[in-house]
Amino acid sequence: MNFKAYLNTISNRARSLPVVILYVTEGCNLKCVTCSYRKPMPGELSFEEITVLAESLKQFGLRHIVYSGGEPLLRRDFPEISGLFQNTGIKQTLLTNGLLLEKRLPELQNVFSEIIVSIDGADADTHNRIRGVNSFDIIIAGISAAVSAGENVSIRTVLQKQNYRALPEFITMARYAGVKRISFLAADVSSEAYGRDSIAHKLDQKGTIENESAIALNPDETAELRSIINEMAVKNKRDFDNGFISESPEKLLGFADYYDALRGVGRFPNTLCNAPMVSLVITSTGDVHPCFFLPAFTNVRNTPFPLAANTESIKQIRKSVRTYEPHECKRCVCTLYTSPRNALADKF
Ligand code: SF4
Ligand code: SF4
Repeated sequence: MNFKAYLNTISNRARSLPVVILYVTEGCNLKCVTCSYRKPMPGELSFEEITVLAESLKQFGLRHIVYSGGEPLLRRDFPEISGLFQNTGIKQTLLTNGLLLEKRLPELQNVFSEIIVSIDGADADTHNRIRGVNSFDIIIAGISAAVSAGENVSIRTVLQKQNYRALPEFITMARYAGVKRISFLAADVSSEAYGRDSIAHKLDQKGTIENESAIALNPDETAELRSIINEMAVKNKRDFDNGFISESPEKLLGFADYYDALRGVGRFPNTLCNAPMVSLVITSTGDVHPCFFLPAFTNVRNTPFPLAANTESIKQIRKSVRTYEPHECKRCVCTLYTSPRNALADKF
């Protein structure tokens, strides 16, 4: 029973912080069209600072840490960082582009409850075009090595203009790769996530990204996507039912609605989210965000945890998220909802 987490879901004050997404670096070795992370940010948190942060998070009820970035495996001391949370009962998930997975696997075996690898093409050409680097074969080899080593590996794909027609082929590819499941996201094209924040650009740490119309589907394409999904709902029923495809057909159809709404056709799909009540995102320089998409409200260097979890501004943000006031919430592509019942049952 996690009574503190339960109270989080019904109020604007955090009694604990069950989930943290930690960007261990904002440097990346790929050049995706949807994201401008390239070089590490100046002044990223040192291992000593992360050690202090880890201790305060553990004391504040951390249950699950998700490593993201940037590319976490670029950081040489990443095994030491994940080691701070080992043998504590805290679940660890790695989000990676997979380019260094095979190389670094020996240092990182039996650490993660899940390794989620991003692949944006069901074939090498599409993936390499979207990700800006010839990386498909290396990533598939990394997945294969991790699966052979007994790791729980899954694939995550951003469904976008260049790859939506291959949706059925992604399922075949995931099956051949031997992963446990495949999940999909629509492309976020409008928030400050994925390195689109102005400070990062001013610091010239970032690459260029494609504009919205090169990523988002147009209404003809969303019509085609809907018919592909409707066919899959029948053909791949078992994959949907047993969770091999993480999203339901209805959720995938919501991606078409989202892309239509971006072009002013129809409404954005309804979101159900209480991410800032149970989780926070900490960037490589210590900025603390309510979620992937909302702007930072403090920095751990000025305001350490547990104080950072209950500043006046984050309490106000939690209040506004309850009624989906922020414009980012109205068009959000990656929500997180933990029901009070699951929070009480400590399911994070
Ligand atoms: S989306 Fe991920 S893999 Fe692609 S450039 Fe951004 S951080 Fe790197
Ligand atoms: S709906 Fe999206 S933008 Fe709003 S709080 Fe949830 S994750 Fe953040």
